[in-house]
Amino acid sequence: MTHCPIRVRFAPSPTGYLHVGGLRTALYNYLFAKKHGGTFILRIEDTDRDRFVDGALESLVKSLEGMNIVPDEGVFLLDDPHTPARVASRHSETYPGVSEVGSYGPYIQSERLPIYAQYAEQLIASGHAYRCFCSRERLDLLRESEMAAHKASKYDKLCLKLSEDEVANRIAAGEPSVVRLNVPEDRGDIVFHDLVRGDVTIHAGNVDDQILVKTDGYPTYHLASVVDDHLMEVTHVIRGEEWLPSTPKHVLLYEAFGWDTPVFSHLPLLLNPDKSKLSKRQGDVAVEDYLAKGYLPEALINFVALLGWNPGQGSTKEIYTLAELALAFDFAQVNKAGAVFDARKLDWLNAQYIKALPIVELVEKASPFLREKEFFTSAQDNRKTDEYVTRVTEIARERLTTLAEIGDEQRFLFVEPVVDSALLPWKGNSADTTTEALVRAKDILADIPDIDWTRQRLGEILLAEAGEKRGDFLWPLRVALSGAKQSPPPQDIAWVIGKDATLLRIRTSIRLISE
Ligand code: GLU
Repeated sequence: MTHCPIRVRFAPSPTGYLHVGGLRTALYNYLFAKKHGGTFILRIEDTDRDRFVDGALESLVKSLEGMNIVPDEGVFLLDDPHTPARVASRHSETYPGVSEVGSYGPYIQSERLPIYAQYAEQLIASGHAYRCFCSRERLDLLRESEMAAHKASKYDKLCLKLSEDEVANRIAAGEPSVVRLNVPEDRGDIVFHDLVRGDVTIHAGNVDDQILVKTDGYPTYHLASVVDDHLMEVTHVIRGEEWLPSTPKHVLLYEAFGWDTPVFSHLPLLLNPDKSKLSKRQGDVAVEDYLAKGYLPEALINFVALLGWNPGQGSTKEIYTLAELALAFDFAQVNKAGAVFDARKLDWLNAQYIKALPIVELVEKASPFLREKEFFTSAQDNRKTDEYVTRVTEIARERLTTLAEIGDEQRFLFVEPVVDSALLPWKGNSADTTTEALVRAKDILADIPDIDWTRQRLGEILLAEAGEKRGDFLWPLRVALSGAKQSPPPQDIAWVIGKDATLLRIRTSIRLISE
């Protein structure tokens, strides 16, 4: 057996957004290619004109590249900052701003129509496909009678009986027709090997005479993808389980053309926690929605990688970079059973990634979310500087699940808190004790030179002053600075808002409690 280089493809039909299931398919293709030094191709399957959405192709390519799943070959956007500099081997004729790299193009199916037409003719000529003129009404009646007889819904091959002349005359008369696959009636079992499922057997008797070319002349997915996978020398077809029932039709097509079949891998379904199929109704399914909510691409990739694959061998490692995934990934560790989409796990992973990000990067990623919040826009100018935002981010990061949450629980860092005087005393302490603690805190803080106004020094000084009785001293100070029952420790707040604001807030609370 010759050892041919691995070539895989992600072949989405652009619908307007990148589904998390699509991301997982793209990722596994990408990882498999990287692991084996192969080529990862991005092909666009846009032959279903009824489902055409303007801008969908572009947004899909953009999302994929934004997730760092960059194809080696196929479609890319010329003006996307994520795209590595590339020399286009071809520009799309129909999508402005979309180009291609690689010598197997076009990689956009709507730009390959003459190729499919030629292969459809070849199938008709060899008897593996035939023209069908049946009307929608006849097909509906057929389906109803099959259902009534509890039979599987299949076309009854009526048009297979038409003579060549009859077919030619009806076409010449302008009658609409489709091209159907001629599933041999005596074919028996169709067996193919799947890297996830092992040998899969389906009886040809259960396979319908699939439409290969529609009345509008466009190929269906089945014909187009088989022709392209062959012409693009795809060695492994890695796709979601929902395509498993289509695979026998594809195997018949490969046989009809006399081509070798690629190796198939059907990835497990993604399920909601109640084990129903993952759907938009129960939560977000678009990658774009997760990014808009402040999930990091790296966390999303890590999460999606673990939906159906595990590192095996008792490994408990959960945090993986893309490069680590490419090393570890193996189809032997991909499950057959559906993978439950556990949003809490994604939250946990995202929080880990947020904690681990260098502060400069975290600020860069989180500040766009912060800068559009009302409490931010209405804050004093000195609380809008990069330096101030960096300090806020530093103390907020420990509690963040998503970037979008930044500042939500620390509004008092931007606007003056409204303090409830009843909240100031620590556990049954009197107003006098509370005032005494606040005055002491004010005096100590007032004496701290600017050079010592750091998060660490402030912590050391305040904790030393609090001694054994932390609550008595630190609680009123924390409430005076935040107005909240729960907040970061007072030294963190004091450090962020600075000395003047700190002293002002303490004085306000002293006044409040003595009223
Ligand atoms: N165009 C199909 C889709 O939208 C591709 C299926 C396949 O990978 O063969 O998912």
